[in-house]
Amino acid sequence: MSNLNLSCLSFRGRIAQGELLSGHTSLKVGGPADLFAVPEDEADLLELVSWLDLHGISRFIIGGGYNLLVGDGGIRGAVVSLERFTGINLIDPSQGLLRAQAGADNLTVVRFAQERGFGGIGFMAGIPGTVGGGMKMNAGAYGSGIMERTSSLTLLRNGTVADFPVGELDYGYRRVSLAPGDIILAATFTLVKRGQAETEDEIRKDQELRRTKHAVGYPSAGSFFKNPPGQAAWRLIDQAGVRGVQVGGAQVSEVHSNFLVNRGGATARDFLALAERVKERVKVITGVELEEEVRFVGDK
Ligand SMILES: Cc1cc2nc3c(=O)[nH]c(=O)nc-3n(C[C@H](O)[C@H](O)[C@H](O)COP(=O)(O)OP(=O)(O)OC[C@H]3O[C@@H](n4cnc5c(N)ncnc54)[C@H](O)[C@@H]3O)c2cc1C
Repeated sequence: MSNLNLSCLSFRGRIAQGELLSGHTSLKVGGPADLFAVPEDEADLLELVSWLDLHGISRFIIGGGYNLLVGDGGIRGAVVSLERFTGINLIDPSQGLLRAQAGADNLTVVRFAQERGFGGIGFMAGIPGTVGGGMKMNAGAYGSGIMERTSSLTLLRNGTVADFPVGELDYGYRRVSLAPGDIILAATFTLVKRGQAETEDEIRKDQELRRTKHAVGYPSAGSFFKNPPGQAAWRLIDQAGVRGVQVGGAQVSEVHSNFLVNRGGATARDFLALAERVKERVKVITGVELEEEVRFVGDK
C-alpha cells in the first residue's frame, strides 16, 4: 500500500500513513495502520468508504480503543476513527429520545441527558469509550447493557445510511451481530425523566466503586475475559493461581485478576502469550474455558 496515491481522494479530514496504533489503544500496544483516517463528517466518511471500496482496501473502525488488543504488526488497510462525530441531540423530549453520534464519549452523553432532566443510562458513565464502541460491544455494568436503553442504531450499510430498530438486531452479552462492513453512525437512546441529583448520585457511586475495584495503576483494557454464565472470570483466574503472573511487560493485575495490564514496554505478543497461559491454567484447574472480551485485531 506504500505506493497508494492519496491525491485522487477528495477528503477533508485527517489522513496518515503508518500511524502507530499504540497511541490509540488503552493497552498502549499496536503496530502501524497502513492508513489512519479521521473523516470530518458523514459526507466525508461516505467519500472515504467509496474510495476504499473502489481500491479494494479493507477498513476497521476504531472507537476509543478501550477494548482492543492490536497486533504488533499493525493493521493492513485503513483504520477509520469517528472521533469528530460527537453530536448529541434530544430529538423528542416527550418520548425521552436522545440521539448521539458514534464518536461521542459515554460520560458526555450521560451528562448531556442529566442536564436536561433525563437519565437511566448512569451505568454508562464509568465505561470508557464511545457510543459506537459501546454499541458494538453491547457494553454494560451492574447487570445493565447499553442495548437495553437503545431504540435504534443508525448504520452505514452497503453505501446507504438507515435506522435499524434494536428489536430487529441480534445481540447478547458483550456482542451485537451486525453485517460485515457495517459502520455505526449514531444511536438513539430511550431515556426516562430523572432528577439531576439522582443521576449525580449514580455517577458518584459508580466512580467510587471503580476507584476501589479498577484502580490497577497501569494501562489496561478493563476486563480481559468474559464472565462465563453464572461465574466470575476473576474468581476462576484466582483459583487457577495466576494472579500477578507476568509475560514480558504484560501482567495479570495484582489488584484485579481479570485485568491484564501493561507494566511497561509490553507487546501484543506478550498479551497473547499471557492470555493463553491464563486460559490454559483456568481450564486445567477449574475445567472452565474462558473467552476473551478484549478483541484482538491486526497482524501478530
Ligand atoms: C478501565 C476500563 C474499564 C472498563 N469497564 C467496562 C465495563 O464496566 N463494562 C464494559 O462493557 N466494558 C468496559 N470496558 C471496556 C470498554 O470500555 C468497552 O468495551 C467500550 O464500549 C469500548 O468502546 P470504544 O469506543 O473504546 O471501542 P473500541 O475498543 O475502539 O472498539 C471496540 C469494538 O467496537 C467496534 N467499533 C467501534 N466504533 C464502531 C463504529 N462506529 N461502528 C462499528 N464498529 C465500531 C470496533 O471495531 C471494535 O470491534 C472497560 C475498559 C477499561 C479500560
